[in-house]
Amino acid sequence: MQELPELDIYRALIADQFAGAQITGIEISSAKSFQASEDQIQRDVIGKVLWFVERRGLHLLFHLDNGKRLLLRLGQGAYLYKGNETDKPDRAAQVTLKFGENELYFVGLRSDELQLLTVREVEEKLGRFGYDALDKRLTIDRFISRFAKKRGAIKSALMDQNVLSGIGAAYSDEVCYAAGLRPDAKIPVFERETWERLYEAMHKVLKEAISAGGAGEHVFSVGDSLTGGHRGHFQVYDREGEVCPRCGGIIAKIDVSGRKAFVCSDCQKE
Ligand SMILES: [Zn+2]
Repeated sequence: MQELPELDIYRALIADQFAGAQITGIEISSAKSFQASEDQIQRDVIGKVLWFVERRGLHLLFHLDNGKRLLLRLGQGAYLYKGNETDKPDRAAQVTLKFGENELYFVGLRSDELQLLTVREVEEKLGRFGYDALDKRLTIDRFISRFAKKRGAIKSALMDQNVLSGIGAAYSDEVCYAAGLRPDAKIPVFERETWERLYEAMHKVLKEAISAGGAGEHVFSVGDSLTGGHRGHFQVYDREGEVCPRCGGIIAKIDVSGRKAFVCSDCQKE
């Protein structure tokens, strides 16, 4: 799983290791993973400096010093690894960015998951998504209004990247649990007080997961003790049959609009 907290950990680790570093080379073993021509790569990537990495919803955006951006969407099972010639990831990388002796490996990328874009193209691609779940501009009133046209289950709406971006299957269950709401609760019945509870729960759950290092399954580099610190700390997600840490009830797996969801029916009443 790669949701907002896991990507935020990558953002921080890449910034720590590579911000201000020059891209000295690139290796591409799967041309379809990286949507850019050889010409563009030679002209717009090689020799450029990586200023910083930004996270927007479920995307990472690498800012280069020529104004170009590398837009990354890490799909299921994909991960990033920082190493060098003698310290490579277990699996073959589809794309490798070289920063002198250090290398950043993109492993498990599928078609077009890494793209070289202009700022305008990035806005065209990401502009249709809703606010990042932790965007400071996302006030409680804006948060409520994002759901105004939604009718179905709250879990599905939380996962809809056009409503908010950054939340997926795992954290939608965790946010509902923290708010005391069933993931299959139907949106039209929500009172303002319920929205406020959900809004607070969303911030709390995502920030706690980030503080703990997210739930990523692959270390970023040798000596990385941050990544994955939140694994094993989920309250309900993927804990079917286990005891609810809040009330002692039993956590169940249910179906919400064709997706599995985890819930404690004893304390998620609403
Ligand atoms: Zn419970």
